Amino acid sequence: MVGLLELLLIALIILLIFGTARLSRAAATTKAAVKVGKKRLWVANPVTGEKEFTLMTAEKELALGRRSDAEVRQKWGLYNNSALQQYVQEIGFRMARASQRPELPWRFSIVDDSEVNAFAAPGGYIYITRGLLAHLCNEAELAGVLAHEIGHVNARHIAKRYTREHGAQAGLWLVRVFWPAARALSGWADKGLDMLFLSYGREAELEADRLAIGYIAKCGWDPLGLSDVLITLGRLQDASGENVVPWFSTHPLSPDRVTALENIVTHLKTRPTDTGRETYRRYIKGLSFGDGASSRIGFYLVQDGDTWQAIAKHAGQAQIDAATLAILNGHSVSKQPRAGDEIKMVVIASSDVP
Ligand SMILES: [Zn+2]
Repeated sequence: MVGLLELLLIALIILLIFGTARLSRAAATTKAAVKVGKKRLWVANPVTGEKEFTLMTAEKELALGRRSDAEVRQKWGLYNNSALQQYVQEIGFRMARASQRPELPWRFSIVDDSEVNAFAAPGGYIYITRGLLAHLCNEAELAGVLAHEIGHVNARHIAKRYTREHGAQAGLWLVRVFWPAARALSGWADKGLDMLFLSYGREAELEADRLAIGYIAKCGWDPLGLSDVLITLGRLQDASGENVVPWFSTHPLSPDRVTALENIVTHLKTRPTDTGRETYRRYIKGLSFGDGASSRIGFYLVQDGDTWQAIAKHAGQAQIDAATLAILNGHSVSKQPRAGDEIKMVVIASSDVP
């Protein structure tokens, strides 16, 4: 039987985990800082300023980030192009330095993976795959993806999720101690890298989007870069009919996300319009594309009368269909390319890049 004291303990833990907002206000009012040893369990959220209960201190964030970084490097490896890595690092760092947590040891890295994804580890470690880079059309879009991930780190979304899960784990442990029948319930193992690929939830996504718009605009890029990425990846997902955009598994594309983003941009006092298209294209020329070792991103000058279908045929061995090519260039296949435009193209490395 579970005694009254045990029940009270369990109730207290549940209250601590799920009633943090109310408790945090109470804690702020009474100024009763709750500490266990030297570890602060109440910390101010860097974005909202509100005190929140946490099981992941800033030190733990850094330690987990370092460990995840080593695991990411070992599992996928980083893309072998130091100039491109440096470029992504600079774009990300510019925004991170202007954000709420400039002191974090921010690292922005390209993962050598053809999947379309981006993710963040605690402590400021942010990753984008070469598969997602291939689908971006300019620097503002790259900034959009990185800024969104910066938003998750700054708002401590990973720490909140960690606190919920590990708090629940602690609750479960207590239940098991005092209620042996519950021992059959499986424990919540340390999820390791999987922790980086859990969904944050709708509210956290909208908050990361809102923060991202601020970072992008503050650093001088067109803030619509982020919504443009979402539109492109939405097309990619629709065209295949399958879940080909893992980024959406962790950062779901709800119908109102693009509209919400555009609304925020409309209300900006000043809206930069720089997209950094040419610079971006210079850096991704020769980027590996897909799973094959030889397919690369090149460029093609659209001729009079060209269609996506006709241009796709030029790809030859690189084998790309018209819809994928249009999407790669930020278009819908129903809108044909304009003569004189230089579009992204998939080429075989051994052939001359046009
Ligand atoms: Zn997200």
